[in-house]
This record gives sequence, C-alpha cells and structure tokens, in this order.
Amino acid sequence: MTAARTALVIGGGVAGPVVAMALQKAGISATVHEARTDPDEDLGAFLTLQVNGIAALRAIGAGEAVAGVGFATTSMSFRSGSGKVLGAVGTGEPLPDGTVGVTVARADLHRVLRAEAERRGLTVTYGKRLVEVREAPDGVTAVFADGTTATADILVGADGIRSRVRTAIDPNAPSARYVPVLNVGGFARVPDVDLPAGEFQMVFGKRAFFGYGPAPDGTVWWFANPPRRDEPAPGELAAMTTEQWRTWLLDLFADDRTPAARIVAATPGELRGWATYDMPPVPHWHRGRMVLVGDAAHATSPSSGQGASMAIEDAVELARCLRDHPDPETAFTAYVGLRRERVERVVAAGARSSNQKAAGPVGRVLRDLVLPIILRRAAGSGTGSLAWLHRYEIDWDAPVAAPVPA
Ligand SMILES: Cc1cc2nc3c(=O)[nH]c(=O)nc-3n(C[C@H](O)[C@H](O)[C@H](O)COP(=O)(O)OP(=O)(O)OC[C@H]3O[C@@H](n4cnc5c(N)ncnc54)[C@H](O)[C@@H]3O)c2cc1C
Repeated sequence: MTAARTALVIGGGVAGPVVAMALQKAGISATVHEARTDPDEDLGAFLTLQVNGIAALRAIGAGEAVAGVGFATTSMSFRSGSGKVLGAVGTGEPLPDGTVGVTVARADLHRVLRAEAERRGLTVTYGKRLVEVREAPDGVTAVFADGTTATADILVGADGIRSRVRTAIDPNAPSARYVPVLNVGGFARVPDVDLPAGEFQMVFGKRAFFGYGPAPDGTVWWFANPPRRDEPAPGELAAMTTEQWRTWLLDLFADDRTPAARIVAATPGELRGWATYDMPPVPHWHRGRMVLVGDAAHATSPSSGQGASMAIEDAVELARCLRDHPDPETAFTAYVGLRRERVERVVAAGARSSNQKAAGPVGRVLRDLVLPIILRRAAGSGTGSLAWLHRYEIDWDAPVAAPVPA
C-alpha cells in the first residue's frame, strides 16, 4: 500500500481532534467527521485527565489547550461508608513543571481539543454519522447518514465505545460489555462540607459508591455508582425522572457517615444516569486502510480514570507509527504493538475497580481489609505501584521500530 497522505478521522470526541493534530504533525492531512449535530451539547459527566494524558498532549505541543480548563486534582482519598479511612492514591507524579492531573467536564475537554485543532487549521464537521465504509485499492470512502461521502488514504475510527468502524474492520468484533454499576452525577453548592483542595473523596458506601471533590468556585462536583447486576433495558434509565434518581440516591446513602445525601439533596437541576460499559479485548484493531483508537478499541470503565488519557496516548502513538512506516499496514501493526498490552491492563484494572464498587456483604468485608494494602502499594514505588500507568512519556522525535513479524 502507498504511504498515507490523507486521513478521515471518524468521531470528534477526545481522540478525534488529537489524532488529527498528531497526523498533521506527522505530515498527513486529516479531517474530523462527528455524528453529533451540536458541537456544544452538554455531555453531562466530568472526568479526570491524568498526568500521562497531559504529557501525551504535550508531545504534540497541545498541552496548553487543557491548561485553562477544569481544576487541579492531585489525589483520591478512599473511605468506607462508616468513615474508616482506606487510603489514598495520586493522579500521578507531577510533570517536571509541577503540572498535575485535572478534573474537567467532558464537554469542556471536547471543546478545547476541538478549538486547538481548528486553531491549527483542521476541520471538524458535525452531523456526519458514519454508516458505511467502502474500500478500494487506492483509498477508503466513508459514507455518512446524510448521504454525503468523503475519501482519503486511511480511515481512523475514533468513534467511541459503539464504534461503527470496529464492525467495518471485523463484523464479528465484540460489542461493549456491561459493567455492573450505574453512573449519575452533578454539581452542588453545599455549606459546611470540608474538602481539601485538589483531592477527590471516594466513599465505598454501604449500598453505593460516591465520589466528590471541590471546584475552586466552591461547587462540589460529585458522582454516584449505584450497583446494578443486570443491564438496564433500553430507555429504562432515560425514563427515570430527576425526583426518582434523587429519592433513590438519598435512600442508598441514608446510612453512610458521609455528606453524600446532603450533596445529592442540594443539587439543583436535572439528574441523569447512565449504564456503564467497557470493551472485552478487540482482536482486530485494524484491517486494510482502517484502524481504531481510543474507546473504539479498548473502552475502560470510568473507574480507571484513564479512558481519555489512553485515547490521547493512542492518537499520538498512531501518528508516530504512520510517520515512520510509510506502509499503513506496517504502521498499524507497529501501533498495536506499542499499545495493546498497556491499554488492556488498564481495562482489566478498571473492571476490577468497578466490581469492588458492586461488592456484596462478604465482598465488602474483604474489600475493606484488602484495599488499604492495595492503595498503599499503588501510592508507593515497589510492587503494585501505579508508576507504570502515570509515567508514560512519548518522545515524539524517537523513531518507531519496525514491528516484529508475527
Ligand atoms: C460517566 C463517565 C465518566 C468517565 N470518567 C473518566 C475519567 O475520570 N477519566 C478518563 O480518562 N475517562 C473517563 N471516562 C471515559 C472517557 O470519557 C472516554 O474514555 C474517552 O472519552 C474516550 O475518547 P474517544 O474519543 O475514544 O471516545 P468519545 O470521547 O466517546 O468520542 C467518540 C465520538 O465519536 C462520535 N461517534 C460515534 N459514532 C459515530 C459515527 N458512526 N460517526 C461519526 N461519529 C461518531 C461520538 O458522537 C463521539 O463524539 C468517563 C466516561 C464516562 C461515560
């Protein structure tokens, strides 16, 4: 196959704009095609971008894009619902200039990444839902739901956990896997909640998990993970009213010695909830001129706190591979070689963490005994340390080795 000079990027979430910027730096001209029609749609949730994600953005000179959003978050402190302290973990050693992880609304992260891509002359087009991919010997064509098409040398699937590109690559690819907790969250002003700056409080409540942290403007940002064994029916959660969510959450947190119930009660506006999913291992991340990045290849449960950072790392590594290996198939193979082990380790850790949140009575006792040990190790530098996760530096200029033949 001839070297890629042009690329279609499907999906304008976290990975999409970053992959387009990274490809541009590698000399490949890319356009981003996003299904949503409203660029400023409220995406509801917030996430923590950890230092490895910020470092990956810096590898392509885009670190400044996230410097002004959200708020610094250095650590997460864990307790049980009875108030027992279980331990704490950091969001990664600060980068050399002191930068730490940030908590940011998903919509804001999308917005600043898109703005940075557009500042570099890249185009993100909305209302372009990919429905079909047509392959030809000399290129690949994306067919969108509005009947339009676009053609380029390669197509990058940055289209998230329900990826259409994934099934274009492999019709037998696995689908998203239900993780047995729900997600709901909000923003509240609550008097008399004592919160150290930069720290998220994570509580394994008696009946549900609750996380909350202080934004500099005095708002408490929170999320809850009510356990739920079976996958909700389509539309079931969307049909729940704000009052139903509130009543349920207040009941779930009634017996915990934490401010969870007060925070939920003080939250104005609408409450919305989601089911949680991750991806089982996806055997084929690429075929022909198509390749996957981010959640499309390896969505992790939000409990890992790493989905966005992994998507950004993928984007940068893929571009390095395409820069150094003119044949796209060779580049894609090198990219998978760089990424698969790391991201699948993250997905597995995220699944373990979500299962701990959904533990039954016996599991809860075991968890409260074992978790302090795990958290101590995670915060240290020996076995069980999280250094492998946070200290991942991409050297943009370093050449990518040729993949080892299978
Ligand atoms: C509640 C919640 C909390 C989370 N917390 C964290 C956290 O603390 N830390 C963290 O790092 N991550 C967290 N995540 C995960 C994080 O949001 C994802 O891992 C990250 O957004 C992945 O980026 P992506 O670009 O691969 O996918 P997305 O950001 O989902 O982007 C995919 C884009 O593709 C578009 N698309 C889909 N189908 C098509 C199509 N057919 N045609 C065109 N476009 C299409 C979608 O509209 C979307 O904009 C959380 C996720 C959720 C839901």
